Amino acid sequence: MKKINRRKFNASLALGMGTVMTSPLACATAISPQKKLGVALVGLGSYSEYQLAPALLETAHCYLAAIVTGTPAKEKIWAEKYNLPSTHIYNYENFDSIANNKEVDIVYVVLPNSMHADFSIRAAKAGKHVICEKPMAVSVEECDAIINACEKAKVKLSVGYRLHSEPYTQEIKKMVKEKYYGEVRYVAADAAYFSNSHPNQWRLDRKLSGGGALMNMGVYSIQSAIYGSGQNPVSVIAQEFSTRPQYFKDTDETITAQFEFPNGAMGSIFTSHNVNMNRSHTAFEKGWVALNPANNYGPLAGHTSDGKVLNFPHESQQKLQMDDFAKHILFGSENLVPGEMGKRDMIIIEAIYKSIQEGGKKIPLDLGMMGIV
Ligand code: NAD
Repeated sequence: MKKINRRKFNASLALGMGTVMTSPLACATAISPQKKLGVALVGLGSYSEYQLAPALLETAHCYLAAIVTGTPAKEKIWAEKYNLPSTHIYNYENFDSIANNKEVDIVYVVLPNSMHADFSIRAAKAGKHVICEKPMAVSVEECDAIINACEKAKVKLSVGYRLHSEPYTQEIKKMVKEKYYGEVRYVAADAAYFSNSHPNQWRLDRKLSGGGALMNMGVYSIQSAIYGSGQNPVSVIAQEFSTRPQYFKDTDETITAQFEFPNGAMGSIFTSHNVNMNRSHTAFEKGWVALNPANNYGPLAGHTSDGKVLNFPHESQQKLQMDDFAKHILFGSENLVPGEMGKRDMIIIEAIYKSIQEGGKKIPLDLGMMGIV
């Protein structure tokens, strides 16, 4: 098997030392500014294997330092592929001893949703910065517990919303902020895929997933609606649809919801595990911008009402995301996806489920500027 060299140090980073020395470091352990940050991936499923680990071979400011897995067979394969010593391989039981591993700076939790809070909190207690995959947890209460644990341990926290580091998404946010075509009047966001994988998979098991399409793809449509409008919603009304109840026994298949925004704009989201949809549309007073696809691994594509085609070079979104978080830790740059944003979205998710339970009742939301980036 081909070995991939670990890249502990990056001499080029030393060029940035002037800014580094003045930056606030949150971690109790002082970090050498020349050092790349070591990332431990917790859970070696498809996202870790095919997206995050390959991206960590490209990152400028972090590298794969350790793995945490419950599947012994994966240990040898990953150790050989990524040249990891046995001292950098953990399982779910001995995970807490990662506190003693000085090479691990960031723990990235990539487990089924109901396990996010437990492992994020344990990582914080081990003194490690945390990236928690989306959705941040399965309840607002769990999001609070993660945020509190990170604050108490004085470690940084982010959620795996990779699109905030992605240029098409950043362009939408910029156009909205700069009122490119005036005020936003309406935003529509669809995020869905057709699922027919094994009925025993964890995404169909509410105890592990916390919910269905809304918890999985729905967070993308909620995110698109918020950065596509530049505001947090003040109310939501939601509806649920099921066309394959035999398959989706325990989790939601299709959900639509409508938001009201503070400036009077409307938002409409669609999410499903029953069809492939992946687009966003922001309608301003005098024009519009649309992305299709809007939230896959890229390259994304977009155009505007006056014929402008958005065109940005493609890079791994996961590489950009992890480097942005590492720069936040190393250089004190903005945390593009703070824990509060994951919590904000969980408040909205809970409100959507509540609206459905109450027959489509309008649920007020009091989010202020929470999680707006
Ligand atoms: P996956 O099913 O491919 O992998 C899940 C991993 O968790 C496996 O390694 C599995 O062994 C492990 N695991 C531990 N306990 C388990 C249990 N009780 N049941 C099932 N698996 C268990 O899932 P994935 O697609 O890698 O998703 C993992 C997380 O990453 C999820 O929270 C998901 O929402 C998130 N994710 C995010 C993105 C993104 O673009 N940000 C993309 C895919 C997945």
